[in-house]
Amino acid sequence: METGTPNTSGTGTARLSLPPVRPTPVDNCDVCTALAVQRAEARSRGDYSAETDCNVEIAAHAEGHC
Ligand SMILES: [Zn+2]
Repeated sequence: METGTPNTSGTGTARLSLPPVRPTPVDNCDVCTALAVQRAEARSRGDYSAETDCNVEIAAHAEGHC
């Protein structure tokens, strides 16, 4: 059973598990910088899975910033 997916016109193609907004790494944070480098490397080699992982990690970690 589907959980009420509105199967109308194809709108969601490329962003199934991606966060709605690409998280922006914080400049003076070592974790953000490292994740941003990993994300750039993953992106440059076409590894979208790893890129998404980095986005999720940055987004989750960014909630700890003050
Ligand atoms: Zn950070």
